[in-house]
Amino acid sequence: MRCALCRSMQVAPGRTTVTLQRDPTTVVIKDVPAEVCGACGEYYLSEDVARAVMTMGEGAVARGAEVEILRFVA
Ligand SMILES: [Zn+2]
Repeated sequence: MRCALCRSMQVAPGRTTVTLQRDPTTVVIKDVPAEVCGACGEYYLSEDVARAVMTMGEGAVARGAEVEILRFVA
């Protein structure tokens, strides 16, 4: 797969940290499985992973946290 951002072919499966911003909440989710570009650091989430990340983010927003750091669990 080719990186949509920098056109590098160095996209490989890995782990990334996803940050979601929704005022006033910032959610940082670590260890998210993704296709990561080795050249520019852009990442690509599968549909299932993106949905799980959103669900985790919504939970933090609902709790009213200002900053919440989570570890991804499938
Ligand atoms: Zn790239």
